[in-house]
Amino acid sequence: MSGAVGVPPKVPVYRPYLGVEVQEAARKALEVGWLGMGALTREFEQALEARLLLDGRRAVSTNSCTEALHIAARLIGLGPGDEVICPSFTYVAGHQAISRTGASIVFCDVEPDNLSIDPARVRELITDRTRAVLAVDYLGIPCQLDELMDIAREHDLRVLEDAAHAFGSSSKGRPVGSFGDITCFSFGPVKTITTLEGGAVITPDERDVQALHELRHLGIDADTDARYRNQRNWDFDVVRQGYRCHLGSVPAAIGLAQLAMVDEFVLNRQTYCRTYDQAFADIEGLRLFDTDWKDIAPYIYVLRVADGRRADLAAHLSARGVSTGIHFLGAHEFSFYADSRRGDLSVTEQAAGEVLTLPLHPYMTPEVLEQVIDGVRSFYAAG
Ligand SMILES: *Cc1c(COP(=O)(O)O)cnc(C)c1O
Repeated sequence: MSGAVGVPPKVPVYRPYLGVEVQEAARKALEVGWLGMGALTREFEQALEARLLLDGRRAVSTNSCTEALHIAARLIGLGPGDEVICPSFTYVAGHQAISRTGASIVFCDVEPDNLSIDPARVRELITDRTRAVLAVDYLGIPCQLDELMDIAREHDLRVLEDAAHAFGSSSKGRPVGSFGDITCFSFGPVKTITTLEGGAVITPDERDVQALHELRHLGIDADTDARYRNQRNWDFDVVRQGYRCHLGSVPAAIGLAQLAMVDEFVLNRQTYCRTYDQAFADIEGLRLFDTDWKDIAPYIYVLRVADGRRADLAAHLSARGVSTGIHFLGAHEFSFYADSRRGDLSVTEQAAGEVLTLPLHPYMTPEVLEQVIDGVRSFYAAG
C-alpha cells in the first residue's frame, strides 16, 4: 500500500492526468444531468474530427477501443470462415474483437525495428479466405500502413488499424486516423488521452456512419440525432444485430478536457522519451527504438533488454521503487488461440522476451525521471 510508513509510493507505469480541468468538466456534465449518449458525445466526436484533421472522415465514439474494433469488424462483415491476419505481438483486445465475430485469427510476425506487422510476412499468409489485416501502431510509432494498403488493394482486403497507442502521432505529415482504411483509437484509463473508458472508430466513408451508429446502439436505426440533442426518439425500428457500446456524456466531457491538453501531454512525453534515450544510449545490452520521437505521440517507453536479463532488471527497478510492464506477450501462446494458423514468429518471440516498459506519464518531475534512470543505470553499472 502506498502511504505505509517509511515506504515511498512506487513510480507507476502509467499515471493519467485527472487534475482540475478534468474534474471540472466531469462536474459540469453531471450538473447537466444527461448521462447517456448526448450532445457532449457529439461535441467530443467533432473535436476528434478537428484534431485529427479528418477532412470529411468521421469519428464514431464507443465505450472502448475493443468495442470500436469489434463494430469495425462487424461493419466490414467479418464472420465464420473468414481469416484476419494479425500481429501476435499486440494486446489481445484486437484478437478478441475479431474472434468474437467468428472469424479466424492468423498470427503474423512483426518487423524487427518498430515491431509492427511486417508487410512481407503478411503477403506470405494470404489465402482466398483472407478478408482483412490488423495493423497496430506499436508505442505510437505508425505502422507501415501505405505498404499494407497496397497489399489490401491487390488482394481486395480491408485494413483495420488498431491505433490505441497512436493518438496524436503523424506519418509523413498526416495524423494517424486521417489516412488508411478503418482506424480505431482507445481512450481507456491509461492511454494518451482518457475518457476513463472509451474509444472511437474513424471511417473514410460517410455511408458507414449510419451502420456504425446502429452497431453501436442495439441495431436501432433512428435515435442518434435526437440523442445528440439530449433528447430521445420513441419511434424507431431495429434493423440489425447491434451491441451497446456508445460513449456517455460524462466520459465525453472528460475526453473534451483531455483533448484540450493533448498537445502538452504529447510534448512532455516526447521530452521524457528523449531524456530516457540519452540516458541509456551508451548501455550495451539495451536496444532503444530508432526514433527521435518527432511526430510521434509516445504511449509507452519500451526498452529491449538483451541477454535474458529482463526479469533481473525489472526486479532491480522494483526494489528501487520503479514499476515496469511488459508490452506484449505473444498472443499465439495463449491457450484460446492454440489452434490458430500462424507463420514464422521468430521476431515476435524474441521481442516478447525482451521488452520492458518503463514509467511514462503526461507529467513527470525531474526527480521521478532521475529515479527511473538511476535504477536502470545502476543495474548495468553493477555489471
Ligand atoms: C489498450 C489497447 C487496446 C484496447 O483498448 P480499450 O479501450 O481498453 O478497449 C487495444 N489495442 C491495443 C494495442 C491496446 O494497447
